[in-house]
Amino acid sequence: MKSFNINGKELPIPSFFQVYNYGGGAGDKCREIVYANLTKDTPALVNYYYINNKYPHTFQSNKLNDISKFNSIGDIFNYVRKSLAEDDKNVYSKYSLPDYDFNQKIFLLDSGSSQIVKYIAKKINYNKESFLTMFYQHMVAYYDFADRYKFDLVVGFDLGGKYTFKDGEADKKLIQFYNSLDKDKINYTILKATVDYLKTKPNYYPKVLATIHGKTPNYYKQYTLKTLELEKSLGYTFWGFALGGIASSKTADESWSNDIDFSKTKKKFVSDAVTPARASYIVHNIVGNRPIHALGGGGYPNILLNSWCGATSFDAASPARRVGDGNALSTNYVFEKDAPKKLNGSEVSFSKFFVGGINADGTLRDESFEYIDLNKLDNKFSLCGCPACKVLKTMTTLKELYASKSSDDEANYFSRQLMNIHAIWQHRFLCQAIAKYSQTEFIKIYGKDNLFSRLLLILKQIKGMV
Ligand SMILES: [Zn+2]
Repeated sequence: MKSFNINGKELPIPSFFQVYNYGGGAGDKCREIVYANLTKDTPALVNYYYINNKYPHTFQSNKLNDISKFNSIGDIFNYVRKSLAEDDKNVYSKYSLPDYDFNQKIFLLDSGSSQIVKYIAKKINYNKESFLTMFYQHMVAYYDFADRYKFDLVVGFDLGGKYTFKDGEADKKLIQFYNSLDKDKINYTILKATVDYLKTKPNYYPKVLATIHGKTPNYYKQYTLKTLELEKSLGYTFWGFALGGIASSKTADESWSNDIDFSKTKKKFVSDAVTPARASYIVHNIVGNRPIHALGGGGYPNILLNSWCGATSFDAASPARRVGDGNALSTNYVFEKDAPKKLNGSEVSFSKFFVGGINADGTLRDESFEYIDLNKLDNKFSLCGCPACKVLKTMTTLKELYASKSSDDEANYFSRQLMNIHAIWQHRFLCQAIAKYSQTEFIKIYGKDNLFSRLLLILKQIKGMV
């Protein structure tokens, strides 16, 4: 089993999903859509909360105000891209933008439900009694939306796990409200409601992933077993599973990495890989060779272990985020390796370039994996041969585009997208290498890499644990 066929499109095992946050940000988020041609058929995760203008939010796009005339999410993005390029002129003038059809991509819809919970809580004035009824209505609207716009995959609706609270009275109320919810019970009730909904829709278009939760490895196991029992008792089979709440090692319960010995590996990068890999291994051991998507678990250091622990796909926003680290001030200093860190009290912060990984021809690169400030890289730095690097040809070109901000904003945006797309291809190249070689072959070819060799020490421990 090397790939899944989804609605006639091929999803290789493993697969990296890039994250589209269009509607959840300006600037780079628009150019991400414009230059999508350079990502080719890379699958994408889309956030329902951001693209559904029924929820008022900052950065919502007026191009999404009336999408009822479209038949697929691919058609929606085709329209948005055309409008961004032609009406808003969000293209670098010296790049001739080729045609592109988003319908070749596999789209995964995630709910962004923590934002939806916040929205509902305010709407019902923090009255717990009426929460579930309203939450259920939003669930139905979400699944209807996924079907209406022909998403290939949809993540099961749930309470979500990513709650960022700012200080303040309004948020205090929200924290109290959220903490008072019986989250396990609500998630399970919604999972059941999902099955009831799907049983009334025999022609439902998207493949559905049941979302797995659990604070600790043991709870994770229990929830997976409960989900399988539910499938049996209701006579319904989900297409696969989505692993929730495992994306950040900072918010994960410490029991996930308690028993891991980091003395030989250092913690950098490696500790982030533990939680998603363990979750993948736990679920894989119970559900067997069914699709498993690790939500937010596709950062570069996670990919190898996730895949070898049974995850078949994952997503991460890190390529775009590391580009987002760059600010306007830094564009004046990109040719200076010793650029000032601060200037008159303002930070000089550079976009970061993905270094290390595997070249387009499959050979291992000399550097070890890291995102490095663009100004720190040598002008003669050799590029990887991915579609973005092919456009660039040299590191100097990239820096020149980046430095053009004050005279040509679009040149700078273009440089940022090329960095983003290069990092995305690096995630893909690693997935391709994992798919191509057995574990033994992979270790023989790539095992001398600093990151991979440390990850292998962790893998042995995880596999010894469950
Ligand atoms: Zn590249």
